[in-house]
Amino acid sequence: MLIWVFAETAEGEGVSTTTLELLTKAREIGDTVECFIASSDASGVAATLGEYGAAKVYAVDTGDQLPGAAAAAAIAAKASEANPDLLLFATSYDGRDVSGRLSARLDVPVITNVLDIAVEGGAVTCETAIFGATKIVRTQFADASPRIVLVRPKSFGVESAAGGSAAVETVPVPDVGTAGSTRVLERHVEALEGPKLEDADIVVSGGRGLGSAEAFGLVEQLAEVLGAATGASRAIVDAGWVPYSKQVGQTGKTVKPNVYIALGISGAMQHMVGMKGSKNIIAVNKDGEAPIHAVADIGIVGDVHKVVPQLIEALKSRG
Ligand SMILES: Cc1cc2nc3c(=O)[nH]c(=O)nc-3n(C[C@H](O)[C@H](O)[C@H](O)COP(=O)(O)OP(=O)(O)OC[C@H]3O[C@@H](n4cnc5c(N)ncnc54)[C@H](O)[C@@H]3O)c2cc1C
Repeated sequence: MLIWVFAETAEGEGVSTTTLELLTKAREIGDTVECFIASSDASGVAATLGEYGAAKVYAVDTGDQLPGAAAAAAIAAKASEANPDLLLFATSYDGRDVSGRLSARLDVPVITNVLDIAVEGGAVTCETAIFGATKIVRTQFADASPRIVLVRPKSFGVESAAGGSAAVETVPVPDVGTAGSTRVLERHVEALEGPKLEDADIVVSGGRGLGSAEAFGLVEQLAEVLGAATGASRAIVDAGWVPYSKQVGQTGKTVKPNVYIALGISGAMQHMVGMKGSKNIIAVNKDGEAPIHAVADIGIVGDVHKVVPQLIEALKSRG
C-alpha cells in the first residue's frame, strides 16, 4: 500500500507534530510512505520527514499564495500518475482546505474526524467518534480509488523510524485561475508563555467553577509551579475569560498529557472528548456527582479557591 502524507510545518518550528503522528501511523499500515508538502523549503525538512519514514517528498512551492487550491491541484495531477492508495491529512486549516478541494477534484470521498485507521487485505477502515465520543463508528471505503482521510491531532503517537533523508521531487505549481490569487499578507504568531498546550506534559485547565475571569490566575499559578500549559473549558472561552486558543474539547484542542488537572470543570462530553486520553486525570470539583469525577484518577471534592492555593503552597514548599 502506497500512502501519501500531507506534510505541514509549524511556524518557525520545522515539521508539525501532527505530520509526525501521521507518518508514524502510515509506516505501521503502509508499505511505502511518501509526503506532499506546499513549501519553498522542502529540502530543509526532508531530513526530518525521512527520519520518520518518508521515502520521498513531492514539493510544490506555492510562495505567498494560500496553498489550498494549488496544492490540491498539484496532488491531483501527481496522484493520477503515481496512484497512491491512501492520502492522510491532519485536521488543520490547510489539511481541511487541501483535502476538501482534492476530494472534489478526484471525485472521491473523504472521511473526516478520524481517530484510527486499519488496513486489512487492501481494505481501509476508519474509526470516528460520535455522540460526544460515547460511540465509535467504523467506516470502510467502498472502492480502491485514492482514499482521503482527515485525522484528528493526537490520535497516534510519534516514533522515529531512524530513516535517512527523503528524496525531494519538485512539482510545478499548477495554474488554478482566480482560486490562486489569494495571498497571505501577514502572519501573526500568538505570544506564548510556558509550554504549548497540545504538546505539554502537564495541562492545568479551568472551568466555570472558578467563578470569575480573575480566578483563572489560580490556574496560571498552579501551571507555573508545575511547568504546565494552561487550558480551559468552552464555558469560560465563551464568557471571554480566556482566548479560544486555550479551549480543550470537541470544538477546541485535543490534548493527551501525562497529567491533566481539571479545576471547576463539570466534565461535559464535549470537553472530555478533548482530554480523556490523558494518562492521569486529576479533578477538583465541589460537586461529588460531577461527571469529571467518573474519569478522574484522583478526584478532589472541594472548592477550587480552598484546594488550589493549598496545593500551590504544598508544591512550592517541596521546592
Ligand atoms: C456542539 C458543542 C460543542 C462543544 N464543544 C466544547 C469544547 O470543545 N470544550 C468544552 O469544554 N465544552 C464544549 N461544549 C460545551 C459543553 O457542553 C459544556 O457546556 C462546557 O464544557 C461546560 O464547561 P464547564 O465545565 O466549565 O462549566 P459547567 O458545566 O458550568 O461546570 C462548572 C463546574 O464547576 C463546579 N464548581 C462550581 N463552583 C466550584 C468551586 N468553587 N470549586 C470547585 N468546583 C466548582 C460545578 O460543580 C460544575 O461541575 C460544547 C457544546 C456543544 C453543544
